[in-house]
Amino acid sequence: MKKTTKQSRARSAAGDRPVDSLRLDGNAAAGMLREVFVPDLTAGRAKCAGCGTTRSIGALHVYSHGMGMVVRCPACDGVVLRVARTPTRVWLDARGAISIVISGEN
Ligand SMILES: [Zn+2]
Repeated sequence: MKKTTKQSRARSAAGDRPVDSLRLDGNAAAGMLREVFVPDLTAGRAKCAGCGTTRSIGALHVYSHGMGMVVRCPACDGVVLRVARTPTRVWLDARGAISIVISGEN
């Protein structure tokens, strides 16, 4: 007989997914996200999803236009980041980066 804990047997109200007692809402990520979204990301390093090259964001190619910018990989010309600004929001599309690494020493 498989031994299960009370935690692993718990189910959501809909009964479709296990409830993890360690799960918090997104507000719990605020402190760590504050480290990621530092005022100057250009010192961070991005790994291109297109070719796997890792470079500092400051070394990528930026094409700026009225609403924002497209940041491309110098090795493969793939789009690494897109940033757009509207009157009330800033949009970041980072699908072109496998990872973005930022120094934890700020
Ligand atoms: Zn690339």
